[in-house]
Amino acid sequence: MNTITQVVSCLDGYDPDALRVDKAGAAIHACLIPVTEIEAVAIRDSLGRVLAQEIVPQIDVPGHDNSAMDGYAVRSADLALSKEVSLKEIGSAFAGKVFQGKIQAGECVRIMTGAVMPQGADTVVVQEVCRADQERIIIPPGQKAGQNVRAAGEDLKAGVAVLHPGQPVRAADLGLIASLGIAEVKVKRRLRVAFFSTGDELVSIGTPLAQGQLYDSNRYTLHGMLSGLGVEIIDMGVVRDDPQKLEAAFAAAADKADAIITTGGVSVGEADFVRQLMARLGEVLFWKIAMRPGRPMAFGKIGSAFLFGLPGNPVAVMVTFHQFVRNALLVLGGQTDSIEIPLLKAVSATAIRKVAGRTEYQRGVLFAENGNWKVRTTGQQGSGVLRSVSEANCYIVLEHERGRVEAGELVSVQLMAALA
Ligand code: AMP
Ligand code: MG
Repeated sequence: MNTITQVVSCLDGYDPDALRVDKAGAAIHACLIPVTEIEAVAIRDSLGRVLAQEIVPQIDVPGHDNSAMDGYAVRSADLALSKEVSLKEIGSAFAGKVFQGKIQAGECVRIMTGAVMPQGADTVVVQEVCRADQERIIIPPGQKAGQNVRAAGEDLKAGVAVLHPGQPVRAADLGLIASLGIAEVKVKRRLRVAFFSTGDELVSIGTPLAQGQLYDSNRYTLHGMLSGLGVEIIDMGVVRDDPQKLEAAFAAAADKADAIITTGGVSVGEADFVRQLMARLGEVLFWKIAMRPGRPMAFGKIGSAFLFGLPGNPVAVMVTFHQFVRNALLVLGGQTDSIEIPLLKAVSATAIRKVAGRTEYQRGVLFAENGNWKVRTTGQQGSGVLRSVSEANCYIVLEHERGRVEAGELVSVQLMAALA
């Protein structure tokens, strides 16, 4: 098997010290090995999981031709193009209560939405346009043969696959699987993700702060971001910048998880031992990514677990998670569908400072004005200003080559709501 170093060095334009965002994403993807284990779960429990089987209907849905409206089931052969006709009402068909006879020439059946079409009938005339005259029903001209009938199998056809391995199960899919009468589905095993924060300055909630200390917030944002991905979360707490403690933490994480996320300790100026340690325990690459925020990042493997060593700054953690780790975890979890987050266009309400040569993820507020989508930044964009993400509903993605943005120019945005 190829090592991570071998895989990434084959990639076009790979430069660990000035890595473009797209190259970093490609480098990560080239190395990932998705989980293969499969388990069977009850349909409700498959929500948010990755499907590991094809869903092939054994029945048609709906099972029979049925009425789309309340009205009268008729034979189109009895209708006239330009004059009304009078038909004899011979009975009723309700949803779940089938009309047992057969409609002959000159006859009709009162029918409710969802009721099976009576034998002989091929058309439904809505009740609002019909008139009753004793036990005869008067049908106006201008009806179309076949109207207001839902065909058997128009939703799902027996034998035609409808859901595929690798797609995430969503609310509509739960209903769809249920409509086929299937009680249990096969899904990929949940990905196990362990994470810990590193830093001598960090304190956990519950302990008073001494001078120079701050509360660890990264583990909470990570918990929040991971919760939306349907993975098993293993929170390993704060680990001091101490070689022995870090080594023990990495070993424990690699033992129980498929992926490890750490924050802090990868920036220039951080103790070199963290890098040496990571590099010694496994195969870890240290990157300087041409992006802001989030320049330093480590990626590699410790044992069989993939390692994402994120920077310590709270905003950089979120941006690097959203732009790299999220996609990577979805792929590792076996998902092959709907991974990319769409980039939409909006008009920038203000000028935005930006220098060419790096991709920027400014935090923005998308809003409607006179029927157009506009976007402004959330103000102060420092990588320690977590409030800038909290106040945002989107990222303003300023591409690598792009320079300063003038008010009125189109910019790309990514909805935060799409990132869960
Ligand atoms: P580092 O990448 O370890 O040099 O950290 C960069 C900055 O992020 C420093 O100001 C740290 O105090 C801060 N930081 C690191 N980890 C955390 C954390 N878990 N929660 C909040 N701030 C952090
Ligand atoms: Mg640190």
